[in-house]
Amino acid sequence: MVKELQLRVNLVEERKDNILQLKASKKLGIPIADITSVKVLRKSIDARKKEVIFNYKVAVYINEPQPDTPDYIFEYQDVSNAKEIHIVGFGPAGMYAALRCIELGYKPIVLERGKNVQDRRRDLRAINQFHEVNPDSNYCFGEGGAGTYSDGKLYTRSLKRGDVRKIFENLVYHGATDQILVDAHPHIGTNKLPKIIQNIRETILKHGGEVHFETRVTDFIVKNNKLQAIQLQNGTEMAVNAVVLATGHSARDIYELLHKKDILLQAKSFAMGVRVEHPQEIIDQIQYSCSGERDELLPAAAYSLVHQVGNRGVYSFCMCPGGFIVPAATANGEVVVNGMSPSRRNNKFANSGIVVEINVDKDLPKYEKYGALKGLQYQKDLEKLAFNAGGKSQVAPAQRLTDFVEGRLSSSLNDCSYQPGLNSSPLHSLLPKLIGSRLRKGFAAFGQKMHGYYTAEANIIGVESRTSSPVNIPRKESLEHPQIEGLFPCGEGGGYAGGIISAAMDGERCAEAAVANL
Ligand code: FAD
Repeated sequence: MVKELQLRVNLVEERKDNILQLKASKKLGIPIADITSVKVLRKSIDARKKEVIFNYKVAVYINEPQPDTPDYIFEYQDVSNAKEIHIVGFGPAGMYAALRCIELGYKPIVLERGKNVQDRRRDLRAINQFHEVNPDSNYCFGEGGAGTYSDGKLYTRSLKRGDVRKIFENLVYHGATDQILVDAHPHIGTNKLPKIIQNIRETILKHGGEVHFETRVTDFIVKNNKLQAIQLQNGTEMAVNAVVLATGHSARDIYELLHKKDILLQAKSFAMGVRVEHPQEIIDQIQYSCSGERDELLPAAAYSLVHQVGNRGVYSFCMCPGGFIVPAATANGEVVVNGMSPSRRNNKFANSGIVVEINVDKDLPKYEKYGALKGLQYQKDLEKLAFNAGGKSQVAPAQRLTDFVEGRLSSSLNDCSYQPGLNSSPLHSLLPKLIGSRLRKGFAAFGQKMHGYYTAEANIIGVESRTSSPVNIPRKESLEHPQIEGLFPCGEGGGYAGGIISAAMDGERCAEAAVANL
């Protein structure tokens, strides 16, 4: 017999080896010897009260063995000689589109402008140390896309859009810890992601798919509203049956190309702001109501904050406990920050994007002349502003949190995880009012919600501008572009995803749609 139970375990109990068996036997009123095993289905931490509680959802196997079969069996067939589907971009959307093609018996041909994960590392070092941004290989571009050197947080709100569990199981199949199947806030970490991504590439190659790195798509050849071919940066033209366009939200050249070719695009609302960084210890003390260091059984604490300022939301985005702030620009002449963390989340800082909603219909009247690219242009201008304020390198403009809110230049800054360095700047007056004044009110309100959060020991760093796509590439119900037969806009770049998991699920859906169309 199998029984599902909810169990609550405190910090002292959590240290005991067989605590789940003990609690289960007590709750069910059966001898512990009758329990064959206890399988954890879900684990979360509740730190809202003084006593931290681990909440477990478990399946208790009583006098019967626990089966050893996974929920999903991944069967990939040989597609070497199958019909081809071209996939542009090898981020989460492109990777999962390729895997799904193979499952369905089609041959994915992936074209990725960046390098493989190993070679990409060298270009990341060049950004951090020499402030040189390779426009084809950086924190956003290259094998695994923006998801590789990321935090690897795996939660998504897009539960209706696909099978989240299948993506998680597939990540485990490719080397992720099975802990992600039970954690309420699953996370992989930037040190583990490259190997998993490499394994996914190997699955694709082993079954007859193709992955071409350093291969940028520069044009689409359309005849009679049908996509006939794609052109690569070396001038080669490739005839295509169907193209899954999974180029991510930083492929500005793709948006500009489509716009120039009069292929329908729409401006999309998005969010921008800054990244805030606190000592992790401060966040732990607030969230776990402790003084000094957190208990070793507890992970670096996270937070999620939101406050309405006037008619716009100000909210935390991509919070990285025990993480690093990274330079996520995709070209020289811009400064963009983002966050990542290693699997153990053991760095001494906690960082998070704090962003303001930008309504493209109401907030950008001066940008109307850019049409569908108005949000993109605004984003570019803000990144250029950050570049100039930082001192025209990857050094980022920064301010102590309290100085930003109270409107004065910081005479000194706190230590920070951002490798290229910081330059004290008056961000309170430099940022457009639309963003700056809302952020200042938002931060003050956050200080009321989390006592200790509003502190001079925190820095804010500019700018957090690539939270989501400022452009939407429309598609019909069949997921095909309304004007161009054979073109399937996909993932975050199309405006259909906002993170690793939602992008992966959209990749699967677009592969299915492309196959259905052949
Ligand atoms: P992308 O990952 O952006 O991939 C697009 C790919 O297309 C890139 O590899 C690019 O090189 C390629 N490409 C672009 N143009 C061309 C072209 N013309 N020809 C050929 N190839 C091209 N999300 C989470 O869910 N959790 C996190 O913890 C998290 N942390 C992040 C941390 C950082 C530092 C960054 C930058 C992002 C983070 N994200 C996180 C966001 C997440 O990475 C993205 O939402 C996700 O990667 C989007 O997937 P995608 O496949 O749609 O696009």
